[in-house]
This record gives sequence, structure tokens and C-alpha cells, in this order.
Amino acid sequence: MDKGIYGSAESNQSRFNRWLGFVFLALSILQVLAFLIGHFFFRNDPINEGWVKEYTGVWKFETSDGEKGSFIAPFVMPIADDAAVTITTTLPEDLTDRTYFAIFTGISMKVYVGDDLRYSYDAKSGRFPGGSVKAVYFFVPVNSADCGKTMTIVREDTYASNSNVNEVLYGDYAGLIQYMFHQDGVKYFANLFLVFLSMAGMVIGMLMRILQKRPNPMVLLYSGIFAVSAWILLDSYLFQFIFRNYEIDGLFAYMTIMLVPIPFIRYLDTEQEGRYQKLYIGMEVVLGVQYIVLTVLHFTGVCFFFDSQLFMNILMGVCIGVLAAIYLLEWVQGYAKRYYLLGIGLLILMISGIVELMLIFFVVRYSYGLSVVFGMYGLLIMATVHTILRLMKREKETNLAITANEMKNTFLANMSHEIRTPIGVIRGLDEMILRESSEKNVLESAGKIQDATDNLLVIVNDILDFSRIESGRMEIVKGAYALKNMITDLVSVAQDKASAKGLEFKYEISRDLPEELIGDETRIRQILMNLLSNAVKYTSSGTVTLRIEGSHPMGGTPDDYLLRMEVSDTGIGIREKDMDRLFRSFERLDREANRGIEGTGLGLAITSRLVDQMNGVISVDSKYREGSTFTVVLPQTIRRGNPIGSFRYTERGESKALFTAPAAKVLVVDDNDMNLYVVKRLLEETKVQVNLCPGAKEMLEEITKEKYDVILLDIMMPKMDGVTALGEMKRKEGSLNDNTPVVALTANALAGAREGYLRQGFDEYMSKPIDGDLLEEILLRFIPREKLEN
Ligand code: ADP
Repeated sequence: MDKGIYGSAESNQSRFNRWLGFVFLALSILQVLAFLIGHFFFRNDPINEGWVKEYTGVWKFETSDGEKGSFIAPFVMPIADDAAVTITTTLPEDLTDRTYFAIFTGISMKVYVGDDLRYSYDAKSGRFPGGSVKAVYFFVPVNSADCGKTMTIVREDTYASNSNVNEVLYGDYAGLIQYMFHQDGVKYFANLFLVFLSMAGMVIGMLMRILQKRPNPMVLLYSGIFAVSAWILLDSYLFQFIFRNYEIDGLFAYMTIMLVPIPFIRYLDTEQEGRYQKLYIGMEVVLGVQYIVLTVLHFTGVCFFFDSQLFMNILMGVCIGVLAAIYLLEWVQGYAKRYYLLGIGLLILMISGIVELMLIFFVVRYSYGLSVVFGMYGLLIMATVHTILRLMKREKETNLAITANEMKNTFLANMSHEIRTPIGVIRGLDEMILRESSEKNVLESAGKIQDATDNLLVIVNDILDFSRIESGRMEIVKGAYALKNMITDLVSVAQDKASAKGLEFKYEISRDLPEELIGDETRIRQILMNLLSNAVKYTSSGTVTLRIEGSHPMGGTPDDYLLRMEVSDTGIGIREKDMDRLFRSFERLDREANRGIEGTGLGLAITSRLVDQMNGVISVDSKYREGSTFTVVLPQTIRRGNPIGSFRYTERGESKALFTAPAAKVLVVDDNDMNLYVVKRLLEETKVQVNLCPGAKEMLEEITKEKYDVILLDIMMPKMDGVTALGEMKRKEGSLNDNTPVVALTANALAGAREGYLRQGFDEYMSKPIDGDLLEEILLRFIPREKLEN
């Protein structure tokens, strides 16, 4: 059995868990079924049931013009709409006390039983201008004594349709209410739920919009569904019983229905990526004008909503027709496939609309709107699924893009890291040739190799930095540094570069600069080096000038310092129009004039981002064909405020090696033979005794035999790495090399690497490729004075 006891126990448990889930699912389904069966097949005898009947007695009508006739409700009388009309009927014999006649109308009327005025309603006496426009139920009280009496309804409205008589009901109060809930309840609550659902959708859409900072079409879709469901809700005759308002609902129903198409139009516009935007804008403007004009006309009493209804319906029909036509067009052109789910949703809504119309025509007592409500649910579900699928797709695409970008950066970083090692070897060997050879030809070639490798190194380092900045891994590491040393080094390099090109190099270094500052020295050097190299690169004759000064920022502490560094040249300058492209990555300007000048277009992009990261400012002032000045201001902290005094750069003497120390012993540990060889040869001139070790194991043995003045220890070694080796070494206390300084050698030139290695117990750190001069400088610091010659 290859499954352990533990393994099989766990799979048993998860199997049981799955099984348990199925049991609960089955139970739930059974329960729902049982409920439905119980509800439909085992109904209770009614409790507190009221009674209600439809009034099917004969009505007689007579208009003021003398037109007459009789009918059974519901009926539309063949008379002029606004003719005053009186309708009468003989009340039935089954009236009890507390019976009500429920008359559904939106028209002013007076109801008499015999000569007794039982009810009167004035539609225009509402609190809103234009009066009530909603048909509602009025309950006219009658009683057993009224049996056989004549009921007369007088309608004298001059602006509304007097010809309509809707269904008339009579019964006790409970019966009437129950009847209405049975008729309209399902639609009402399904629709109420839709209102809340669409409101929730709108809120979620808006939140997503805020969080993702981009428009979310969901908001439009849900506002459309909200508008339709709000309209159906307002139009329901249950509204008057639940919200007790029959003036405001009618008005808002009309106003809402005029605006309903707008969110749908806008939603489709985003789905169709603006292909029909002009047309849609036109439609929206027309709808907006209709809304304003008809509303004003209604409230000023010029033309009531009721009378504008036909116009509203026509406009709505046109809108739906246009949208449907465009959708068909999109199908033909193949665009519609992208939002086919939405299409299905709209189709469902359309079918529900047709079903609705058929129900209205063929089923007499059908409560309006139920089919449309379900159609809206269909649209809501389809459109929601569509939106979610699309958001998921978009999310996937962004994730892919992010991963691709990360992969690119990692690749760049790895590549440049790998390339640095062989460059190091080439550079090291070449430096040895330069030192040893006296043949002119060889020296010349070796000099060129050195230039080329230096160039290559700059490019590789730029790419490394760039990928680090891109992936947000570039860190600013602050430490104390001596300004003078930094400036000396920079001036030395700039001097060499300038004179190699026949340019004059000048420097103006303020004597008040503080001796030591706290900041990221490596990055400041890099910034200045970039600017100086560019100045030399893009200048063919004249001068390159480095100016460094500083000041205390206003309102800062005495330790705050603003270091201001300026590099000017008399070179080709930069055109005004190119200025804003200057700091973009991979941008190279004025290709015509700069033909033949090497570069990646990364230098300034890196420089400006480094300056940004140090909360500094970089600015350029340039005149085309006259020269440029790049200025960098960086906030730093003063560590030692003594002024550096007047700065003078003196070139190092002719002596090739910085020192000679034949008595000194250095151990070099590296698994790479070539590296060992390079270090050994680089140190030849110093005459120090160099011993080589191919690995950490060998080193640990070697240090028990011989006392060394410095150990150079490679970090990346296969069996045991440098950090572990150092740990081992420190553990073996009491050996010969307890106090020997150890220098870490590594290709890791990451920001903060030095601090990291010092923390791990190394005394110094050198990045590969190893620079001969730097190596000598470091050794000079560690080799005991008495072992140094002269
Ligand atoms: P690269 O020098 O590798 O092309 P940079 O990012 O350092 O990239 O510079 C971008 C562009 O800005 C250069 O290609 C050059 O056209 C222009 N430029 C930079 N420094 C100077 C300067 N001192 N004088 C004139 N043009 C410059």
C-alpha cells in the first residue's frame, strides 16, 4: 500500500464531507418540493376571508349632448372623450352593511345613491399643479338599505377620457383588498425586489467605478432596469395601499417612462464602442427635450401628461425600433457576437413585451406588467453574467500583461547579470595587458577593448537599473559619504573622458560644501556620471563644466542640506520641441545630428527616476546648437558640517600600482579559475603574495595553516557559499586568521548590497567585474602599515 494511514484517513474525511454536502442539498430540494406540494394541494379553509364580486349589472349612460346607451363594465362608451357623461345602474340585492363599490378611475366624479351624494373626487384639487394623473381605486360605501336603489356617477372632466369605464367590483373591505393582492401582488413584490436588486447593482457598479477608476457600464444598465421597475411599481394599483400616495406616483410614472431609454442607449453605446454615438446623442437630446417640454406643459396646465401619452409612446416605439435595427446591423457585421448575452437578454425582454401585449388583448382581467417584470429579470441576469464575464476577461488580460512585464524585467535582470561576469574577465585580462605590455599596437588595441567593455558595462548596468526601476525594486540606500572622495572620482573620470575627446573639462566646487553627507552615494555618483557622460558624448568641441554647491533649505533643521549639482556643455543642445521626450525611456533625440553616437536612450530616464526617488528635482536648460545645462537638486542630511575647503584635483602619478607590499599575504577564494587568475594578475604589480583557493572547503583548511592579511571571498560558490564559509570561519575561534579582514566578491550589484554584506560580517564588499584600482585601494586600507613599502 503506497498510501499512508494518514493519507487514506484524510481522503476518507474529504469523501465524507462531500457526501454530507450532497445529503444537505437533497434535503433542501425535498423541503422546497414539500412546501410547494403543501401550498398548492393542501390549501387551508379560508380564515377571515372577505367577499368580493365583479359588478356585471347593466349601466346606462347619457351625455350632456343627449347621446345615450347601455353597457356592462368594463366598457368604452362611444362618445367624445371629454364629453360630460352620467352613468346609472340599479344596485344589486345582495348588498350587506359595509359594502363598498370599488371604482377604478383617475377622473373627477360624483357618486350618488338615490339623491344621496356618497362620494366625490376632484382630480384637479391635488397639491401638485396639473392635478393627479393616476387612476386609483375609490371605495364608495353602500349598505343593505341601498339594495335596488339607483347609483349615479357624474363625470364632468373636460380634459380626460370620460368614455372609459373600468371593471367595477363590490364587496366588503377585506374582500376587495384580498382581491387586489391576488391580482397584483406577485407582480408587485417581484417588481419591488427588482427595484432593490437594480439599486444594489448601481451601488456596486459605482463602487467599482471609484475603486478601478474607470467607467463601469454596469451602472448604466442597472439604472435602466431601475427606471423600468420603478415605473411599473408606480403604476401598480397596490401603490396607493402601501405608500398611501396617489398624486405623486402618477406624475413620476410618466416622468420616469420618458427617461427610461436613456440609460439603455448609453449602455449599448459603451458595448458598441461608440460606433453609433452620433445617432445616440441625437436620440438622447430628443428624449431630453421631450422630458423638459412635456413636464413644463403638464405643470403649467397647457397639456397634461395624460394627453401627451400618445406622443410619449410613439417616441418610445421609435427608440426601441432604432435600437433593435442597430442590433440587427451589428449582427450582420459580426460585432454583436461580443455581447450576445446582452442580445439574448434584450430578446427575452422583447418577447416578454409581446406576451404582455397578447395578455392584455386576450386575457381580460390580466394585471398589467407581470410579463415585462419577468422580462426585466431575464435582461438583468443576462447582462449581469455578460458584465461579470467581461470583467473577468479584462482582469485576465491585465494579469497576463503584468506577468509578461514581470517576465521581461526578470529576463533583463538575469541577462545583464550573466553578461557582467564574462565582461569582468575580459576587462580584467585587458587591464593586465595594458599594464604589462609595452608594445604600441597591443596597447592601442587593448585600450580600445577597454573602452568597448566599459561601454558595454554601462549599457548592461543601465538595463539592469531600468528593469529594477520598472519592477519597483530600485531602492534608495542611505549612508554617510565623503563628498570630496566622490567629487574626486567623478572629476577624474570626467577629465579622462573629456580629454580623450579633445574637450576642456572645468569644475567649480563650492568650498562651503560639508565634508560628509548622508544619502545614497552610489546613486548620486550614477546620476552625475550619466550627466557628465552625456555632456561629453553630445559635445564635439568646447567645454564641459561640473558645478557643485549647496544650501540650507528654508524652514529645515540645521542638518538639512540641498545639494545642487550642475553639468553644462557647449554641445549640440536640445530642441525646444524635444524637451518633453528627454526623460522618457528608450527615447533618443535628434537622430540626424546624433548619428554615430552610441546610446540606449535609458540614461536620462534612469537619472530622472533616481532623482525622483530621492525626492529631488532635475531640470534642463538648453539652446539648440549652443549647449545644455542639466541641474539636479537633492535633499541630503549633513553628517559632518566642516567645509571641504578649496577643491583641487591632482592626477595620480605615473606609478602604476598604488602601493607595493611584498610581505603582505592575500588569499583569494573563488570557484571560477578565470576570476582567480584575473585577481592574481591584477595584484601582480603590488607584489603582494597571492594565494588562490578554488572553494570554501579548501579555504577553511588553508586558514588554519597560514596567516593572511586580507581574504577576498567570492559569495556565489557551488558547494558552500561565501556567507556560510565566513560563518564557519568565525566559529573556528582561536585560529590564525581570527582578525583577518574578509572582503566579499560578488556580481550582485544590487542597491544595498554593501550594507547587507557588512551586516553579515564582511569587512568590505567589491562588485564584479573587479576594478584593479579599487582593489588596490581596498587592500591598502587593510594591509598593515609596516608591510607597505615606501
Ligand atoms: P542615450 O545617451 O543613451 O541616448 P539618454 O537617456 O542619456 O540616452 O539621453 C536621451 C537623449 O537626450 C539622447 O539621445 C540625446 O539626444 C539627448 N541628450 C542627452 N543629454 C544631452 C546633452 N548634454 N546635450 C544634448 N542632447 C542630450
